[in-house]
Amino acid sequence: MELVKISGVSIRIHPTFLLVLVLYGVLGLMAQALLVFALVLGHELAHLMAARAYGFKVIGLELFPFGGAAYCDDLFEGRKLEESVMALAGPAFNLVLLFSAQALRWNGVWEGDFADDFVRYNLWLAAFNLIPVLPLDGGRVMRSLCAEGFGFVKSTKFLARSGQGLGILLALWGMLLWGWGKFSEGPLAFIILGGFFWLAGSKEISAAHITFLRQLTRKKEELLRKGLMRSKWLTVQRDTPLVRIVEEFTPDRYALVSLATEEMKMGKTLTETDVVEGMLREGIRFPVGKL
Ligand SMILES: [Zn+2]
Repeated sequence: MELVKISGVSIRIHPTFLLVLVLYGVLGLMAQALLVFALVLGHELAHLMAARAYGFKVIGLELFPFGGAAYCDDLFEGRKLEESVMALAGPAFNLVLLFSAQALRWNGVWEGDFADDFVRYNLWLAAFNLIPVLPLDGGRVMRSLCAEGFGFVKSTKFLARSGQGLGILLALWGMLLWGWGKFSEGPLAFIILGGFFWLAGSKEISAAHITFLRQLTRKKEELLRKGLMRSKWLTVQRDTPLVRIVEEFTPDRYALVSLATEEMKMGKTLTETDVVEGMLREGIRFPVGKL
């Protein structure tokens, strides 16, 4: 659902967040709901500012119950420094608010339930978003660190599946609390969150393949601009399916694939472009040796 469009950035709210807000409203926790909403929005705007500082064009923001995602026109996924700084900007925003509010509380300037909630929610948002699974901010930092060694698609898959695992745990925890008869906004919010993680995980995985193809184009442009690029060597067997090799490719390096012969001698060498074009032409299961 699109809420508004501010200076070319469309702000959308994820249905699960809407559900959580309505739930809080129904339970008479409207002030808390609005506070969470404002904090999530601020967290997202911090991501947006960081992206803009790097000169990336942000086209949309989507608000989730605990944070959100910024959609860029440019590619930053998997670029170590840029993606990490952008991902950390959100939790940093909450930490700054947390420590400022805490300082006011210690000095007795700000007291009461609202101040407690304010500190608690900021702590929650910062801590939760730093969990290293996708689609959380911590997961993005983790992916940018892992992509070089393990490949972009493979890292994304692993971190997104971990996110889905976290979703199952959250949902089970919610049901357990519910089973203990403590029905309040808590258990239901956990179940909704669990569902959200499950959906978002599969979305991250399917988006990874598209992002990957776009990265390939960017790599070509970078090579043309800089005149050189670091490369990564992969030695593969002739019957290895193309998709296995593509999953090992990394955003910052150009892959060179050498086919091992039966005597483990170096055979033909293929470039990353050969492999990707082959995969688009012949299908993902096509053995590399037949290219
Ligand atoms: Zn975030």
